[in-house]
Amino acid sequence: MTQPPVPRIQLNDGTSIPQLGFGVFKVDPKQTERIVTDALEVGYRHLDTARIYGNEEGVGRALAASGIPREQLFVTTKLWNDDQGTQSVFDAFDRSLDRLGLEYLDLYLIHWPTPRNDRYVETWKAFERLRESGRVRSIGVSNFLAHHLERLLDETDVVPAVDQIELHPYHQQPETAAFAEEHAIAIEAWGPLGQGKYPLFELPAVTGPAEVHGKTPAQVVIRWHLQLGNVVIPKSATPSRIRENFEVFDFELSPLDMTEVGGLERGFRTGSHHDNVA
Ligand code: NDP
Repeated sequence: MTQPPVPRIQLNDGTSIPQLGFGVFKVDPKQTERIVTDALEVGYRHLDTARIYGNEEGVGRALAASGIPREQLFVTTKLWNDDQGTQSVFDAFDRSLDRLGLEYLDLYLIHWPTPRNDRYVETWKAFERLRESGRVRSIGVSNFLAHHLERLLDETDVVPAVDQIELHPYHQQPETAAFAEEHAIAIEAWGPLGQGKYPLFELPAVTGPAEVHGKTPAQVVIRWHLQLGNVVIPKSATPSRIRENFEVFDFELSPLDMTEVGGLERGFRTGSHHDNVA
């Protein structure tokens, strides 16, 4: 079935990002080329990787082999914590670009604020210089809470284009999302399906609309993100799910469905607290 095109979200720096992307956290480096090739064949054009995932080369090989024109792709990678600083940022960026086999990146993110190291402001200033060089179109952050964002806004000149945070029905981060909205920072939802760690797909708030629309629970959760205005980057290493997660543009959740899925908030994080990742 032909899918409608993926909508794009305008970013505060004048660029735009496809609202649905494909995440590759925990995708085995040996299988990454094949899995990303599957995703590109399904229609994904937005890929989300990171140095720490160890699979940038596989992503790059799949992109090169696809023959898809570079301007139709949107590629994100992330600076790992031990590369924060200034020169270390430039070096890490060069290495990531090299592994991806790209001339430029669409989006580069500071992976975690790691506030105990107190280098994220310095790191952000290096990101600003990278953007000025034209080798990255947009710069943003990940796992920044409102108070981390506030400090960047106070002490630097460029507002992050995105904040990529853990966000799913069980953990909606209302404070960070509200701060981001106020400052035109787009929210990207990582772990959008709760990483499969919670029984999200069995709850009536999710299974009810799935039955009504003839869709799967995962599609309902992805649709919930899209209708909230989040950028969403589900990961799957399973071909049928890669396709399933993309087939989300031919139905719409009702306002009541949205409220019921939103009512699942439990404050459950899948990972570490933001202030504790060193
Ligand atoms: P997700 O919420 O995307 O969940 C992935 C899990 O859900 C996998 O176990 C997958 O299984 C399963 N799954 C996927 N689709 C379906 C489906 N249709 N039905 C049932 N189960 C399904 O978690 P991620 O942590 O991977 O988050 C997505 C992306 O966000 C990452 O890949 C990464 O790019 C980014 N991320 C960023 C972080 C950050 O700190 N900035 C942290 C974590 C993630 P299977 O693969 O076996 O199909």
